[in-house]
Amino acid sequence: MTTLRFSAVQIAQNRQKIEVIRPSDKVSDYFGVNVFGKEAMRTHLSADMFKKASEAIENGAIISPEVADAVASAMRTWAMSKGATHYTHWFQPLTGAPAEKHDAFFDIESNGEVIEKFSGKSLVRQEPDASSFPSGGLRATFEARGYTAWDPSSPAFLMVIEDSITLCIPTVFVSYTGESLDYKTPLLKSLAAIDKAATAVCELFDRDVTRVSATLGPEQEYFLIDKALYLARPDLVMAGRTVFGHAPAKGQQLEDHYFGSIPSRVRNFMIDFETEAVKLGIPIRTRHNEVAPSQFECAPTFEEANLAVDHNSLLMDVMEKVAERHNFKVLFHEKPFAGLNGTGKHNNWSLVTNTGKNLLGPSSKAKENLQFLTFFVNTIKAVHQHAPLLRAAIASAGNDYRLGANEAPPAIISVFIGQELSAVLKELEENANVKVEKGDNLYMKLGIDKIPPILLDNTDRNRTSPFAFTGNKFEFRAVGGSANCASPMTVLNLIVAEQLTLFKQDVEAEMTKVDKREVAIVNVLRRYIKESKSIIFEGDNYSDEWVAEAEKRGLPNIKSTPISLKALISTEAIDLFERHHIMTHAEAEARYEVLLESYIKKVQIESRVMGDLASNHIIPVAIAYQNKLIENLKGLKELGIETDSTATVKEAIIQISKHISAIQKGVHEMTEARKAANNLGSTAEMALAYEQKVKDAFFEEIRYHVDKLELLVDDQDWPLAKYREILMIR
Ligand code: ADP
Ligand code: MG
Repeated sequence: MTTLRFSAVQIAQNRQKIEVIRPSDKVSDYFGVNVFGKEAMRTHLSADMFKKASEAIENGAIISPEVADAVASAMRTWAMSKGATHYTHWFQPLTGAPAEKHDAFFDIESNGEVIEKFSGKSLVRQEPDASSFPSGGLRATFEARGYTAWDPSSPAFLMVIEDSITLCIPTVFVSYTGESLDYKTPLLKSLAAIDKAATAVCELFDRDVTRVSATLGPEQEYFLIDKALYLARPDLVMAGRTVFGHAPAKGQQLEDHYFGSIPSRVRNFMIDFETEAVKLGIPIRTRHNEVAPSQFECAPTFEEANLAVDHNSLLMDVMEKVAERHNFKVLFHEKPFAGLNGTGKHNNWSLVTNTGKNLLGPSSKAKENLQFLTFFVNTIKAVHQHAPLLRAAIASAGNDYRLGANEAPPAIISVFIGQELSAVLKELEENANVKVEKGDNLYMKLGIDKIPPILLDNTDRNRTSPFAFTGNKFEFRAVGGSANCASPMTVLNLIVAEQLTLFKQDVEAEMTKVDKREVAIVNVLRRYIKESKSIIFEGDNYSDEWVAEAEKRGLPNIKSTPISLKALISTEAIDLFERHHIMTHAEAEARYEVLLESYIKKVQIESRVMGDLASNHIIPVAIAYQNKLIENLKGLKELGIETDSTATVKEAIIQISKHISAIQKGVHEMTEARKAANNLGSTAEMALAYEQKVKDAFFEEIRYHVDKLELLVDDQDWPLAKYREILMIR
């Protein structure tokens, strides 16, 4: 092990950068070249078929078998002209990572002739042998297998891995009886729900609006570490995070060593993955604002939410693959290193109309601002009303280490809106029951004429808020780095759709009491502000004061994944899912089961890795070192030397044995706790036991003693690569 550590350090130190060549200086020359987008479709389809296909895609209509055949054939011609030999349906099962099952384009006819073939049927539907994907018992109950079905709204693309090129077709993944087994299906349904509800509300303001789409721009954080060092840490390999490791003496300030320029190895990796991403039509814009050492971030320009979700999943995949080429490993885990910033994925979300208007963009025109305020206040109200569901949407074993770790948004869901908008809402709220007379300036009277036109560069952006309004969009920051954005986006779309539906009803009821529609709208908004203002918080979300204050306000603070996931199957949530056709009761239950199982597995793996590393790597080394000290002490005694240093050596021996016994005891008891947990009847009980009786009871305790040993044992003998080694890229 020690040799593995030192040879890894040496390998990492001697690494040379890998040269990369951009296809062209102009991104526009190669943007989307690996995507079967509109242009490729136009080139490879007859004018008539192109028209039919684009119309169906744009309106989300059912595609006829004839059109599907034409599209499939065009796709195959296009893909083969670019060297593709295989195709696959590409889907996002609840395990998180995208799944693929590759099929060759060729087929053998009954006469033995080999022909190149890809039919509309294979495009539209496939039956992957997917029995190993998690289904929460759904497939067992309903039907043995599931199938994948084409999502024409997300274009097919080519996955290029060295010499192998595969046509990937984004699909949903559902059971035979139609239950969703993936992330995309409920997301698409939530997008339909928000479209319907938001379009209905837009009718109050602008009759030209016939469709509303959600937009998403996910900022992706990640750590980048050398592959050799990654392989020298079994915990990183198996659990994605370090279960041990003493923070370097200077902790996060390690960045002083580092700040300034990005090592050329990293820069080349970035150029390389950006290039691949751009070819896939992902509008990536990398930023290099690393916070912790070896931590980086990239963000695309926002897109329609379904596409943005696919692109984020694809981007993570591309980053991992390109990292291989550069001898790096990308870590998306929410908390790979104790004492350093965790990894998040800010989900920037908004709504845009078919006329191109951003519904969360304040305007300089008072009239449009009433529309802005409507969507703004309704979103806040939705978050207030459904905070537990939103919290459940981002719950994972990894994110539990990050949320509330005093450097990431806490598990308390609150909304930050900034000084100006706080003032606007306050005024709106206090300006109760205005009387609008003939000849009055309606908007001035209503107190909604004062929205500063350029909120975009509001300076008081609160970096600590889990859900912040940032000028023309909300930014959901509590999402974990490894998460599939579909989960938080589905819930956000759903709860806002629900709220907008209620709003429309409330306005209609109010209109029977007042004669002006604007007054009715403002009256309803005013009520909403009163009802939901406890969710608004402008202060430091990392502070202890906020935890106390939130409790006073009655805001939930759910730190635990097993507990927070219960919100997915509350009567209220099921009702919401069913009413908006997002999921059936059975689907919600199944999802809950899958997420609990995944939680259990993650904690179980971490616990095993911890036990294994402690017993087989750390303790033997600590004992060997302790023996060295004992020999040394004996030698000194024989020579009759008794100085301060002999006392220090003796003390070190005592300390080491204390830590060793604490670790042995901890590992033993933790193993027993695991056994007990495994014997529990339900997944929910098991998850809770893994959390409380395994993780909470032992992880920090064992780690404390191992990390102390790291400081006591001779550096030359320590088996695990240390933080300072892992986090330094040359
Ligand atoms: P930061 O939060 O670090 O300041 P940026 O201002 O660069 O980040 O933007 C963050 C993300 O927000 C980008 O991906 C951007 O495209 C996205 N964004 C901007 N406007 C919208 C919008 N209307 N809807 C969704 N995302 C948006
Ligand atoms: Mg951000």
